Amino acid sequence: MCVFCKIVNGEIPAQVVFEDERVVAFNDITPKAPTHILVVPKEHIESATEVVDSNLWSWFMDTALQVVKKLDLDKQGYRLVINTGEHGGQTVPHLHLHILAGRSFSWPPG
Ligand code: AMP
Ligand code: ZN
Repeated sequence: MCVFCKIVNGEIPAQVVFEDERVVAFNDITPKAPTHILVVPKEHIESATEVVDSNLWSWFMDTALQVVKKLDLDKQGYRLVINTGEHGGQTVPHLHLHILAGRSFSWPPG
């Protein structure tokens, strides 16, 4: 079972900031910004490419924006990132959206 499935089923702890029927959002264990939250579907889906139910995307984004608003991240801005596959820099093979905030981010990414 992958590390995010273990967080979803409570086998390993996480600092959960939001949860509903389909997704859970928790603090990244090695934050890359003052606020670094991961939004994860409860269902094990390996990457963005594997999503078959397009309703998941609206659910996913709605959840991310609820977290953004709940934590007032929209005032100064934030960045949403989905790393996919080897070149995308994905290290955990379970779809997740990064919410990054609390500092300025450069562009383009490295
Ligand atoms: P990515 O590199 O896009 O696959 O992102 C994976 C993220 O998961 C990284 O930012 C890790 O710091 C984070 N991560 C790995 N294990 C855990 C964990 N047990 N709890 C919270 N975040 C984790
Ligand atoms: Zn998983």
